[in-house]
Amino acid sequence: MSETFVIDPGPRAGVPVAGTNALFPVHRIYCVGRNYAAHAREMGKDPDREPPFFFMKPADAVVTGGADVPYPPGTKDLHHEIELVVALARGGRDIDPAQALDHVFGYAVGVDLTRRDLQQQAKDLARPWDFGKGFDNSAPLTALTPAAELGHPASGAIWLEVNGQRRQSGDLRDMIWSVPESIAFLSRYYELCPGDLIFTGTPAGVGALSRGDKVRGAIEGLAELVFDIL
Ligand code: MN
Repeated sequence: MSETFVIDPGPRAGVPVAGTNALFPVHRIYCVGRNYAAHAREMGKDPDREPPFFFMKPADAVVTGGADVPYPPGTKDLHHEIELVVALARGGRDIDPAQALDHVFGYAVGVDLTRRDLQQQAKDLARPWDFGKGFDNSAPLTALTPAAELGHPASGAIWLEVNGQRRQSGDLRDMIWSVPESIAFLSRYYELCPGDLIFTGTPAGVGALSRGDKVRGAIEGLAELVFDIL
């Protein structure tokens, strides 16, 4: 006899897979902080002295299909952070960096939306970042391109425009911690699972978004991310 939930558990968050009708089921969303030296410097940190650190967003924070993103409550300083997103097909603990890419299903372009004022308040008061980072609709991203088609991008342009004006511009090769290093590091602290997403950090040029803004971002070789802030 199968057990039933006492209330409707609701739908599972999913991300479309490019060129198919299939959805990739989202388990957790891990995000790397300050993974490009120039962005670490713009946030007032020395990029050479810190091991990687992570924070999380809820799985249902994903926004797909180019849907509008509502301006979130509780902030006057919503920021964009364009990032390469890694999707895991296989999980594990203590993953060897040399084998880490074998766990990857594919890649997407995402924006780690941030309530910068709430994040700064949390930093000042030595409190958790959840209110600044882990809010509803804080993870817009494109469809996933399977690694079987794309390979594993370790370099290539990454950029973001707001209303046609270039704000962020970088190259994946400037990541401080590579994708395999991030997977290996995380797997020493969590059991990674199929369905996990990893946002891999943003290059310099983060800035504020307002209602009505048109956001467009891309990474060489991947689909373009386009959404409006409502
Ligand atoms: Mn970020």
